[in-house]
Amino acid sequence: MLTERMERLIREMPKGENHIHIEGSIPTRTALRLAKRNKIVLPFDTETGMLDYIHTHCGNLDMFMVCDRLINSVCLHEEDYYDVVYDLGEDAKRQNIIYQELHLDYPLNEERGIPMDVVMRGYEAGRKAVLKDFGVELVFIAGIDRSQPPEKCTAFVKNLEPYLDMVDGIGMDCEEISYPCILHKEAYEIAGKMGLFKTAHAGEEGDCRNIWDALNVLGCQRIDHGVRAIDDPALVRELADRKILLAMCTRSNRRLFPTPADHAIKPLMAQGVICSVSSDDPPYVGDLLWEYQGLVEDLGFDEDTLITLARNSLEYSIKGQHHLPAFDEWVRNWKSQSTD
Ligand SMILES: [Zn+2]
Repeated sequence: MLTERMERLIREMPKGENHIHIEGSIPTRTALRLAKRNKIVLPFDTETGMLDYIHTHCGNLDMFMVCDRLINSVCLHEEDYYDVVYDLGEDAKRQNIIYQELHLDYPLNEERGIPMDVVMRGYEAGRKAVLKDFGVELVFIAGIDRSQPPEKCTAFVKNLEPYLDMVDGIGMDCEEISYPCILHKEAYEIAGKMGLFKTAHAGEEGDCRNIWDALNVLGCQRIDHGVRAIDDPALVRELADRKILLAMCTRSNRRLFPTPADHAIKPLMAQGVICSVSSDDPPYVGDLLWEYQGLVEDLGFDEDTLITLARNSLEYSIKGQHHLPAFDEWVRNWKSQSTD
């Protein structure tokens, strides 16, 4: 149970978010609206029905991907992609998220024959409108589907060339165990030459080897999840020494840590590893406020630790450091208020 002050801190504190996937985050209201507009039949027709469907059909990653594809099928036209990003921006504003790094997993759209330009133009227009209407800065990370052949992923990165004014990073997600990150070394080399910030999902369901390779072979500047780092003391020291951000999503890891209090974020932070928290895929696991709430209720995090996490989400972001002076000012004002 949160105190009133803690509830207010979570809600009112300006926050960044470093790890959220557009395609896995289509808000319920948006999915239903687009399904109606595009005459797509879904196995639910209410927001509650969609959430119930998700919770009963997404027990593992394979099921999640089936669900993800089903919900993404509502997006067909540029205006649909615009709407998704615009509504995500509205949700960000509601949570006092001021800066958000969104993975755009275009391959999920490509397999339905949607041209890249349709998706990218919609996302970019949405991003501009979100900044104008909500004051939320969105940054895009292009996501490789690691289960696809390396040559296809390399082609995807090369195809980003016309969009370098809207994409700032490259990432990698989907099934980890059978698809080690080194399969995509060439794609990351090309991304590096294009000046993209490099991150990868590693050490989520896979092991520490994948984190080491992401750092030392792919040259990643960040690791998404990275919870398995806790198994390797040398890796923990490496992450801490190099100030590599682990962009964690503790609610999203509930299959990995059936007892939430056992989550690796606590011992990793205690050993000096820099972490931030994000929602990953809100319709499936809850929004960022819910993520912060879980840190208090499940892990016993205190006010200062939540502030550190929020600050990390800006300081170790791709380009959100300019928000730090305002964030620090907000914290000074907050601290000056009496505790209850
Ligand atoms: Zn993710």
